[in-house]
Amino acid sequence: MTANIDTEQLYKDNVLGNYGLPPISFVRGRGVHLWDDQGNQYLDFCSGLAVTTLGHCHPALTAAIQKQAETLLHVSNLYRNEKQALLARKLNDKAGGNGKVFFCNSGAEANEGLLKLSRLYGQRKAGAEGKCIKVVCAEKAFHGRTFGGMSATPKPKVQNGFHPLVPGFVFAELNNLESFANAVDDETSAVFIETIQGEGGIHPCEVEFLQGLRKLCDEKGVLLLLDEVQCGIARTGVFFAFEHAGVKPDAIGMAKGLGSGVPVGAIWIHDEFADLFTPGTHATTFGGTPLICAAALATLETIEKENIIENVKLNGEYLINALDSLQNEMPESIVEVRGRGYLVGIQISGDNLALVKACRDKGLIVPPAEGNVVRFLPPLIATKTEIDAAIAIFKECLQEQMAQMKAEATA
Ligand SMILES: *Cc1c(COP(=O)(O)O)cnc(C)c1O
Repeated sequence: MTANIDTEQLYKDNVLGNYGLPPISFVRGRGVHLWDDQGNQYLDFCSGLAVTTLGHCHPALTAAIQKQAETLLHVSNLYRNEKQALLARKLNDKAGGNGKVFFCNSGAEANEGLLKLSRLYGQRKAGAEGKCIKVVCAEKAFHGRTFGGMSATPKPKVQNGFHPLVPGFVFAELNNLESFANAVDDETSAVFIETIQGEGGIHPCEVEFLQGLRKLCDEKGVLLLLDEVQCGIARTGVFFAFEHAGVKPDAIGMAKGLGSGVPVGAIWIHDEFADLFTPGTHATTFGGTPLICAAALATLETIEKENIIENVKLNGEYLINALDSLQNEMPESIVEVRGRGYLVGIQISGDNLALVKACRDKGLIVPPAEGNVVRFLPPLIATKTEIDAAIAIFKECLQEQMAQMKAEATA
């Protein structure tokens, strides 16, 4: 407790109960570490859900936020601001230089922008009398909690209680090109998928599948929209995860890691389709505000200055190899290791939520995912030493869980 603040009680009395929260409150962070209000230190391999790209309180980010806070916080999008212009140029460069960027405040809002693009494109394609509103998404997808995002997320846990949803969404099997080809018809405006599924349990699109999808979309005149909200911004050892497949989408949604902790979302749209958004068709009050853009710019500049992509590429392989060895060592505990770079999922045979708790009790913060998966999402500055430390705790917890499962089975 800090200065007699009873955070737990204040939450109970005042914060909406939509999260099942553990009895823990963080008060401070530095690099890969977090501290709670009892003074306990943790190794943070959650990164606030793939958000804190540079770790906690990176000096370059702190300085950029402080400087901008003393200069100009907000002007709205009724006017230009230079930080938004600079950030847009940087993201456009990363995406190939032949598009335009729109800024918003979250991943769900970025995806809403992509879905609105698909409607505008469908109208252009089908003409005034035609109908072209279908969007093909993937099974096990997660695209956010707005009505559009929920409608693209075929999970009872997400959708129950909120019907009727937005019409037009159909679902196909990830990494099954035929399944997607069968789902696309004359009324389809877009294919919309995560390049690597995050919440669904870390399921990467295979290279040939993404290449095949690109070809399918070109042949059918359908937009390829990629949700890189979790897998983008250097997390997999390349700037955008689709670079692994060498394909170019027509539009990209991004958010989480872009601001290294400040709330920012963005969409990039290829120039061929960017003009579908004419003045008045889309907007947001806070998007692209100077404070947030200064933070995102500092994040991207630090990624370059500190060779962070290289770090993730090298150490990401080290992390996956170490987990693969652990699986060989403990085949009854680990079902599969999936992912790329610092976006890794470990499917286990025991209960993932119990393992997440056990790790936390031993000072390692890791998030779960669907399908009995524990995720490793370290900040992109994490070193081999820190990876070793995380794996040591994880292994110990897995061993204890397995011992307990065996004891229960024989009891
Ligand atoms: C987290 C996430 C979202 C939603 O982002 P919010 O910022 O929580 O709205 C959308 N898509 C993917 C792939 C995500 O991982």
